[in-house]
Amino acid sequence: MLQVKNQKINIFENEVSLFIKREDLSHPYISGNKFRKLKYNLIEAKNQQKTILLTFGGAFSNHILAVAAAGKENDFKTIGIIRGEELKDQVNNNLTLLKAQEFGMVFDFVSREEFRNKNNSCFIEKLTEKFQDFYLIPEGGTNEFAVKGCEEILTEPDDDFDFICCAVGTGGTISGLINSSKNCQKVLGFPALKGDFLQDDIRKFANKDNWELITDYHFGGYAKIDEKLIHFINDFYIKYSIPLDPIYTSKMAFGVIDLIEKGYFPPKSKILLIHTGGLQGAKGMNEVLKKKKLTQINIHV
Ligand SMILES: *Cc1c(COP(=O)(O)O)cnc(C)c1O
Repeated sequence: MLQVKNQKINIFENEVSLFIKREDLSHPYISGNKFRKLKYNLIEAKNQQKTILLTFGGAFSNHILAVAAAGKENDFKTIGIIRGEELKDQVNNNLTLLKAQEFGMVFDFVSREEFRNKNNSCFIEKLTEKFQDFYLIPEGGTNEFAVKGCEEILTEPDDDFDFICCAVGTGGTISGLINSSKNCQKVLGFPALKGDFLQDDIRKFANKDNWELITDYHFGGYAKIDEKLIHFINDFYIKYSIPLDPIYTSKMAFGVIDLIEKGYFPPKSKILLIHTGGLQGAKGMNEVLKKKKLTQINIHV
């Protein structure tokens, strides 16, 4: 079983100590939590004797790239249903999609409206007619198998920590962390998007109540970013030599450090951040920032 070491970040004034689990280093393309989320899905797909993986995602999706890479490594064909018809002609300018295509993924570009129906049985039926017998992985990869994989992120030495912090997208990762945490630990989730649906989604999978969502650090919503966050990412690397991604991990780390400064954590708290990866997305984000004439994220590969 893959066990990822914790790297010390810093000890703050009231002796609050901060560590980070570098899940981002576990695989170059099946990044961070996506590695965990796919593990048991791949086993299940094999058990069901499926040869095709089909999933959904946006233009810079870590999940899309992870599924493409995992398919290539494990002998599955992969199909990506991509949000935004206009992207059809932009694959060559989109590093995420280009790389996924290199791994053999076939795309089907759908309108944003159609994409919203992705969980609707009629839409799935249409996809089945088009692509035949596939194993469906939901957008972001969250299902019971994904949660089971994420339960393997924390291991026994992590019982020492008082707080476990992670970024939240669909809630699969935090659900796994909650399930394998101790009752006396507290799991804090930092949603990278706006919306109240997450609580219920997490309750579906989580087996206890030792968690809370901190909703003040989404920076305006999914994939929204401002100068303050860009500077935070760049400064964090200068200080600690740890790269953060612009969509998820930077918002979480920003939130945790802000809360430390505000005295949220009791003195001597031991805090573990989960680095869920996603670094590939920074290049795509820089293209957007360049167009808007904003500061770029310094990329270190
Ligand atoms: C997908 C992703 C998340 C969100 O994980 P969920 O299980 O959907 O909550 C967090 N961080 C990174 C880097 C991701 O790519």
